[in-house]
Amino acid sequence: MNAAAFPARTAAIVPAAGRGERLGPGAPKALRSIGEIPILVHAVRSLTGCGRVGLVVVAAPPDGVEGVAALLAPFGTKVHVVAGGETRQQSVSRALDAIPEDVDIVLVHDAARALTPPGLVAAVADAVAAGHDAVIPVLPVADTIKSVDADDTVTATVDRSTLRAVQTPQGFRRSLLVKAHTAAGAPTNESAAATDDAGLVEQLGAPVRVIAGHPEAFKVTTPFDLILAEAVWARRQGTGGPQNGGIEAPRGRGTTDD
Ligand code: C5P
Repeated sequence: MNAAAFPARTAAIVPAAGRGERLGPGAPKALRSIGEIPILVHAVRSLTGCGRVGLVVVAAPPDGVEGVAALLAPFGTKVHVVAGGETRQQSVSRALDAIPEDVDIVLVHDAARALTPPGLVAAVADAVAAGHDAVIPVLPVADTIKSVDADDTVTATVDRSTLRAVQTPQGFRRSLLVKAHTAAGAPTNESAAATDDAGLVEQLGAPVRVIAGHPEAFKVTTPFDLILAEAVWARRQGTGGPQNGGIEAPRGRGTTDD
């Protein structure tokens, strides 16, 4: 589906209120830079550049709303900033409250997935518009996965053919996302909160559709991820390594056979 034919009013939420402690000391994660451009600006560009998103609501650290609004001022009225909460789930819920009534489709996208290709954002929005009320991009799991107990002893090897690593943006029919957040409440403790929004939809018993994710939609969490992000960005700018415009996305719906 091309952007001109896209029928629904679509908005995006960017939870960007995390402290990013796993990245080490420094500014909040969303304000750290890749190629001298803040992570949050990269993420917002992915959304506004996909041709589907009319409004982006960013949940900023509560003590940094003004600074984030100033940073995003060049986007004009397409971007609105609200105060985030103590958990990601709370931050998304607060941003959801600020979405205008006439918006039909809502994408939720972690600021930390800074280099997500706009084409992936468009694919998620299109899948929701095509009738899937909850859509998530996924990748197959490459490592062998084991569960362990509190004594660091392996309890089982998990069948990885049924596992997927989940990315954002996650796309939802707005009414379903509101219902899921309302039912879940807004836990203030991260251990009681959901780590993604599809998890809340699953708790309602509603189906969640997967589509193929993209390797460049990885989440910047650790110092190593920042090095990787710098390399991906330099490659896109034609200043580092082979220049074929980016890493190829896998085809299909993220199964190990794709
Ligand atoms: O900590 P993690 O990397 O899982 O956070 C995912 C996203 O949720 C990040 O973009 C982070 O800024 C955001 N977040 C938030 N509010 C919080 C905690 C995390 O918006 N209280």
